[in-house]
Amino acid sequence: MEVCINKKDWDKIINYARCASEEWGTEIGGMAVTVQQENGDWQIMDPVIMKQDVSAALCVLDKTELAKYYSKMAIKYKKKEIRFCWWHSHAKMDAFWSGTDTNTIDEYEDGDLSFALVVNVKEEYKCRVSVWKPWVMHEDVELNFLDKEDGYNIPASITKEVKSKCTQPKSTWYNSGSHYNPKQTNISFIKNSSKLATAKDHLITQAWIELIDKVDEINGQFISGEYEYDRYKKKLDDINRRLQNAKMPLHVNIISQGSFEDILHVSASDIIECDSGYEHLNPYDNIEDVMSYNKSFGIGGYYG
Ligand SMILES: [Zn+2]
Repeated sequence: MEVCINKKDWDKIINYARCASEEWGTEIGGMAVTVQQENGDWQIMDPVIMKQDVSAALCVLDKTELAKYYSKMAIKYKKKEIRFCWWHSHAKMDAFWSGTDTNTIDEYEDGDLSFALVVNVKEEYKCRVSVWKPWVMHEDVELNFLDKEDGYNIPASITKEVKSKCTQPKSTWYNSGSHYNPKQTNISFIKNSSKLATAKDHLITQAWIELIDKVDEINGQFISGEYEYDRYKKKLDDINRRLQNAKMPLHVNIISQGSFEDILHVSASDIIECDSGYEHLNPYDNIEDVMSYNKSFGIGGYYG
């Protein structure tokens, strides 16, 4: 028979212990249910604290509170086979069974089976299984720590540190996953609406240039035999999906299977089409314009 606990419940107990230790330098205690699993093992779950008098020497749970707790849990876990686990912390002291502790454990002798757990802020512990019937037997066991199966919470401090130390990946139409709404372009300083339209045009032209580059690369890999047509088509389908997600008025016209000759003779820009009304943004028609755009926006850009 094993006794297990999942990481979330364990962390909760340890955090209660840390909190009492930091606030008052005392121990703290509470209860948890122990639920029998299908394989016969017992899992310590749902640790709580209740009204108590915390002192450096011992913590005594309020008897009335305890009675309320037992009936509440009996209802909550009525479909499960449960027992109870009395847990407490020794703050910064070693985790061991004191005389007071074993006396507290003995208060469970009316039942057939009970559990007790003593921890400290260093996450050391002793876990005791007490069998009361048919004869009394105590055994300290190793806890089996279960992985976090039911999701996890990243502490805010970790999130904060990661965010402060890592640069976010730059969002482009290619990796945006949805409508591309760049926040970091130089659009914000442009006040009047005609220039806003110009900024949007600029964005499309930039995407068009990147697109030619990507399609060129994929065509090249296909021609050199790096992969079969199926994979070639999948790659271009993926690009078309990304363009659509980013609401770019651009599209790759995929050459059909068996037209290998055609691929040899066309350039990437030949198979890129735009919605009508955007033809003037084709970077191939007017490379000079693109370069001057980039300059006017202070962006090095593709040719920079
Ligand atoms: Zn103790």
